[in-house]
Amino acid sequence: GCSGRLLELKGNIRVLCRLRPAEGQPSSLVSVEPGQGGTITTRYRGRQHRFRLDWVFPQDASQEEVFRQLEPAVLSCLQGYSVCIFTYGQTGTGKTYSMEGPPEDPGIAPRALQLLFREMGTGGHHQVTLSMVEIYNEAVRDLLATGPPERLVVRQGPAGQGGIQVAGLTHWDVPNLETLHQMLSLGRNNRATAATVMNQHSSRSHALVTLTLRAASPPRAQGITGTLHLVDLAGSERVWKAGVASPVQRDPNGARRLREAQAINRSLLALGGVMAALRARRPHVPFRDSQLTRLLQPALCAGTTAILLLQISTRAEDLGETICSLKFAERVG
Ligand code: ADP
Ligand code: MG
Repeated sequence: GCSGRLLELKGNIRVLCRLRPAEGQPSSLVSVEPGQGGTITTRYRGRQHRFRLDWVFPQDASQEEVFRQLEPAVLSCLQGYSVCIFTYGQTGTGKTYSMEGPPEDPGIAPRALQLLFREMGTGGHHQVTLSMVEIYNEAVRDLLATGPPERLVVRQGPAGQGGIQVAGLTHWDVPNLETLHQMLSLGRNNRATAATVMNQHSSRSHALVTLTLRAASPPRAQGITGTLHLVDLAGSERVWKAGVASPVQRDPNGARRLREAQAINRSLLALGGVMAALRARRPHVPFRDSQLTRLLQPALCAGTTAILLLQISTRAEDLGETICSLKFAERVG
C-alpha cells in the first residue's frame, strides 16, 4: 500500500530527502527526524539551521521504501499526468544509486518502468515512446540517435502551455519492457563513451529519460497522454569555490572544470528559479534561463507533478554542501 499519499500532500512540487549511508560515524552536526514532514537540523559555523521537507528517508531506507513514496505519482502517468522526478545533490551522495541502482537492488527508474509496463499489460492499449538526452556544458546531446550524436537545438514551439520543440530528437517506440531496457543500456553506453574521453563526465552532466504513454484503445480514453521524466542531475557541488578558479594555471583541466562548474551552476540555479516561480505562482517563469529548464518546460508547467529527491551526506566535511542542498530544497519546496 501507499501509506504516504504524496500526490495529495500539497501543490505540484514535492521535496524528498534521502541520506547517504555514512561510512563510520554519521556526523553529530546533522540530526534527522525521518518520515512525513521530516526535519533535518544542522549546526554549521556556530549557527543552527532547521529544514522541513515533505519526506525524509533515513540512512537505512531501502530502494523499495523510496519507491513506495513515488509509486502513486508514477502510476498517475497512466491517467494522463506529467510527472518529473529529479535526483539532486553533491557528487557521491547517491543520486545515481537512487535513480538507477545496482542491478541486484534496482532504483527508481527500473522500478517505475516495470510498474508501468505491468499496469499497461500486454493488450497493446498504449503507445510508449522513449527519448534520452544529456546536457553537458549547456549542449543537449541525443543519447538514442542512430548516427553520430548531434547537438540538439531546443526551440520555443507554437504558443500554448509548455510549447517547446527539440529538432531531430530521437523518439523510439517501445513495444515491451525488454526492448525498453535494451534502449536504456544503449543510451547509457553512449554516455559512457563520452566518459572515457572526459573524466568524471557523468557527474558533470544532466541525464534525462522521458517516457511518453499514449492510450491507443479502450479501456483508457483514447489519446490521453501521460509523461514520466526521470532526471539524474549533475553534481551540485560548488567546485569553483573549492579552488578550481584559482589554480587554473597549474591544473591542466582547471579551465575545463571551471567551465563545467559554471554551466552546472547556471542550470541548477535556473531550475531553482523556475520551481520557486511556479511555487509562488509568479506570472513569469524563467524557463529560458538554461537548456535544462527549456527542455523541461513541458514537464514543469502548470498541472504537472515535480518531485525533487534531494540526496545529502551527513559527513562533517560535506556539511557546507549539505546545507547548500537543503537551502535549494527550501527555496523550491
Ligand atoms: P552520485 O550519483 O550522487 O554521484 P552515486 O549514486 O554514484 O552518487 O553513489 C556514490 C557511491 O555511494 C556509490 O558507490 C553508491 O553505490 C554508494 N551509495 C549511495 N547511496 C547508497 C545507499 N543508499 N546504499 C548503499 N550504497 C549507496
Ligand atoms: Mg551519479
